Amino acid sequence: MDIAVIGSNMVDLITYTNRLPEAGETLEAPDFALGCGGKGANQAVAAAKLGASVMMVGKVGDDLFAPGTLANLQQQGVDTRYVTSAPGTSSGVAPIFVDDQSQNRILIIKGANQRLKPADIDAAADALRACQLIILQLEVPLETVYYAIDFAREAGIKVILNPAPAVNDLDMAYACKCDFFMPNETELAILTGMPVASDEQVRLAGQSLLQQGLKNLVITLGQRGALWLQGDESHHVPSLTVNAVDTSGAGDAFIGCFAQRLVATGDVAAAMQSAVAYAACSVTGRGTQSSYPDADTFQRFLN
Ligand code: ATP
Repeated sequence: MDIAVIGSNMVDLITYTNRLPEAGETLEAPDFALGCGGKGANQAVAAAKLGASVMMVGKVGDDLFAPGTLANLQQQGVDTRYVTSAPGTSSGVAPIFVDDQSQNRILIIKGANQRLKPADIDAAADALRACQLIILQLEVPLETVYYAIDFAREAGIKVILNPAPAVNDLDMAYACKCDFFMPNETELAILTGMPVASDEQVRLAGQSLLQQGLKNLVITLGQRGALWLQGDESHHVPSLTVNAVDTSGAGDAFIGCFAQRLVATGDVAAAMQSAVAYAACSVTGRGTQSSYPDADTFQRFLN
């Protein structure tokens, strides 16, 4: 295996409605769609679509959604041997309501993702030791994330930590043990308490985080691209100009591609360049995982 993603999967339950019902009211909505998501699963799928061999360590619930989640990951080429079921728990779900103004209202129920424990890392230890890179996010318990970081350090495996969704109680000592720390602008603002409205403010906030002892900081900046800070060096990759139709999951596309390129080439600057292009390509399509191109489609996009 090249890459292990230790993290979340979620089922998006998307209801398209003209308006939201009032309390006590039942309303008929015109449309509904089911989607596979979760930051961990998205990142695993992006890397696998680009040709990396990817395994996932995660939890599904004890419900109708579990077989669909596993089947989706397998179809995309992700090894699910260590995605196990949590008895008596629902899968992670995200009921999403989209109104006729295209406004989203989203609830997140982490469900089984909250049951991913250090023991699950131990159970997958032999397979994990054969990986070159581990990717982590924060939709599973922090205790498990910290355990995985220590495990990876001991085993000499590189780690990417994507501190998403934003939390303000992340132990930065663990972030400093990782090879790459990859927040977006919002997460950077919450972690530092500093403004991030301009490129200069982002750089200053990034430097303040880096000074805590991070090895590499990669900040995704939406349509302004991405910034890599290491020591006194900074390297900005502007985004590609595209016709963006749906930016959901762009950050996960970026990380999945970055990881795949890093493992394939060991070249951070080249991985940044590819990840910016891959994420740009993903925002030209609707949906999250469904908008991630495979290697051939991505190559056509680049030509
Ligand atoms: P999400 O939460 O939707 O997954 P995010 O906030 O974590 O996204 P962003 O920083 O918004 O992540 O986007 C990730 C990357 O996607 C950016 O670094 C950029 O390369 C690319 N990107 C995002 N929006 C656009 C856009 N409108 N046009 C081109 N590229 C984009």
